[in-house]
Amino acid sequence: MKKIISLLTAGVISFSMTACGKKSDDSDKIKIAYLPITHSLAVLETADELEQQTGLKVELVKYGSWPELMDALNTGRVDGASVLIELAMKSKEQGIGIKAVALGHKNGNVIITSKDISSTEELAGKTFAIPHRQSSHNILLNDVLASAGLTTDDVNITELAPTEMPSALAGGQIDGYCVAEPFGAKAVSLDAGKVLFKSEELWEDSLCCGLVLTDKFINNRKEDAKYFVDSYKNAGKNLTKEKAMETAKKYLNQDEDVLELSLQWISYDDLDITEENYNILIDKVKTYGLSDNPPSYTDFVKTDFE
Ligand code: ZN
Repeated sequence: MKKIISLLTAGVISFSMTACGKKSDDSDKIKIAYLPITHSLAVLETADELEQQTGLKVELVKYGSWPELMDALNTGRVDGASVLIELAMKSKEQGIGIKAVALGHKNGNVIITSKDISSTEELAGKTFAIPHRQSSHNILLNDVLASAGLTTDDVNITELAPTEMPSALAGGQIDGYCVAEPFGAKAVSLDAGKVLFKSEELWEDSLCCGLVLTDKFINNRKEDAKYFVDSYKNAGKNLTKEKAMETAKKYLNQDEDVLELSLQWISYDDLDITEENYNILIDKVKTYGLSDNPPSYTDFVKTDFE
């Protein structure tokens, strides 16, 4: 009986959407988790646009760290998240029902070092911070070290919260870091560090964050999932530097000069996850020991929304 009622309700909702293009109640909000970083700007922008265009409400749920955000995603407290793709792959590997439906952004990461380091070789013996082992920041560190014939055995790696990294570099506790933006730009703005490499110099078409949705949401709310993903990709295409700045100022609580610099490094057009680029990520994840058994493209990436 319950099933019949929910089917009927779903019918009424989709009928009312077709009839007037607007949803009247907000009991069907889409709950999306995010961290206040430039890497999540496409989803923040989508939330505003989607409501204006379709009446579909996105409830943005802000988290302070990746583990907290992953806990919400893994336990189904949210319908989706803008999240480090490696963390989502790890959850999928452990049996959590989620799919990656788009990229969070393109490029937009930098290797930051103290100003006295002028070459990769000089990183040997130094302390380098990453936000999490399961991250493209860890992969980029491995990439930069490999470019100089070094490995992670040659540096001391420490995991730090993104917000702590600029001050740790300024205070000399660490010698470099790689993390989601704008925390790289923050060190440059504080004159505490410099950009040794941009991500695209180390890994072309790198993947970093992804928009991830739960299978439950995708299967139970097919039409909403399609609207949401289409709208998300469009929002990315329309996210000019000016718009990105506007959205960043609204959600990120960072100085304008930090955002100005950081937004020069990132783009949001064409957020499709291609099989070719995903397979390069899989190779890196295996080579650098993040995971032995990452999910395949077919199992993890969803591109067909009808
Ligand atoms: Zn990212």
